Amino acid sequence: MPSTSDILVIGGGIAGLSAAAELSKRARVTVLEAEEQIGFHSSGRSATMLHYALGDRLVRALTLASRGFFETPPDGFSEIPLGRRMPVLIHARADEREALDALEADLSHFAQLERLDARGVHELCPLLKPDAEHGIADRNGIRLDPHALLQSNLRLLREHGGELHVNARAAGVERRSGAWHVTTETGETYSAPILVNAAGAWADKVARLGGVQPLGLQPKRRTIITFDAPPGTELERLPFAKTVGDELYFAPESGRLFASPMDEVPSDPVDAQPDEYEVALAAWRMEQRTVVKVERVHSRWAGLRTFTPDRHPAAGFAPDAEGFFWLAGQGGFGLQTSPAMARIAASLIAGEAWPVSDVAAEELSPARFLRQPA
Ligand SMILES: Cc1cc2nc3c(=O)[nH]c(=O)nc-3n(C[C@H](O)[C@H](O)[C@H](O)COP(=O)(O)OP(=O)(O)OC[C@H]3O[C@@H](n4cnc5c(N)ncnc54)[C@H](O)[C@@H]3O)c2cc1C
Repeated sequence: MPSTSDILVIGGGIAGLSAAAELSKRARVTVLEAEEQIGFHSSGRSATMLHYALGDRLVRALTLASRGFFETPPDGFSEIPLGRRMPVLIHARADEREALDALEADLSHFAQLERLDARGVHELCPLLKPDAEHGIADRNGIRLDPHALLQSNLRLLREHGGELHVNARAAGVERRSGAWHVTTETGETYSAPILVNAAGAWADKVARLGGVQPLGLQPKRRTIITFDAPPGTELERLPFAKTVGDELYFAPESGRLFASPMDEVPSDPVDAQPDEYEVALAAWRMEQRTVVKVERVHSRWAGLRTFTPDRHPAAGFAPDAEGFFWLAGQGGFGLQTSPAMARIAASLIAGEAWPVSDVAAEELSPARFLRQPA
């Protein structure tokens, strides 16, 4: 017997689960996840920060609209904290000062920033080399807990009668008799009039399965390494520290440090694995910018950040396929924008009032990428 619901969501990452939890307040929702566990791909491999140095005005507005959710989670989320305060420090050498000034001007619309001189920079992050002479600090950054976020969304979905099926890779997607019919690799079938495509790096692939025009999504690999901090480092006091350019970030991580060389290597949608070059680059840049010696890489991982052609996310119904809803292209900001994106998806699907000021539906519409007929 095929399983029927009002809405089928493909993808059990943060995008799919947060939208599913929000939609389950209004409809019967079923989530299909290809892997054995939720969050196995990008959502479980991120740097887990909420900060405003990511993306541009639109991404920052979506982040600001999400922030209250993490600080004061709604009912059903309140048992586990979804994150904890961690200051964010953007630092610059003398030759990078102009870039820092420009970033400060952009970010000051979204966060309360403190301008720091060399002394202030080193008080906040004693690991930086003396040439880090300028900085801006946002003392209200949030280190998110992706496990708590994913599990809370899942619990809410289930409380509202929604379902999650793992090991359920959508292999066939077809529109027939006013509904989408999805067949998994193992032969189960699911159907619903509305299908939400939240398949992350695979979202274009899922669209093609259903005969829907892809958006031109590009997954890009990013690498993280962990290693020991110098003896005596007060890890709990360290900020999330980022160069003003996209060169390096690092932060404390489970009794050690983590760092990323902020790589963006184009990739197919795959189970991303770290490459030796980026692992070495992370260690090298850490030694260039800080007094830390990376004697031994303790662990390493890579994940995909998937971008649309304009690096803004896509949320909206496909103009070329009835009932096919895109929720994709969350790039490197999918955790920190997930509450706003989930509310946006639910309001568009349910035909309710637009929930986020400062962002317009057209800015997120997938129609902006689709070829017009000649
Ligand atoms: C190294 C790194 C650092 C990052 N740092 C941050 C950060 O600091 N802050 C932040 O907000 N974001 C960060 N991100 C970005 C964030 O992780 C992503 O934007 C977010 O996880 C995307 O969520 P998603 O649900 O779209 O994708 P995913 O988590 O990848 O979920 C998509 C799911 O769809 C499933 N799927 C695919 N095809 C099918 C199919 N045919 N059938 C069923 N299921 C399918 C996949 O198995 C997968 O579980 C970072 C990412 C990386 C890699």
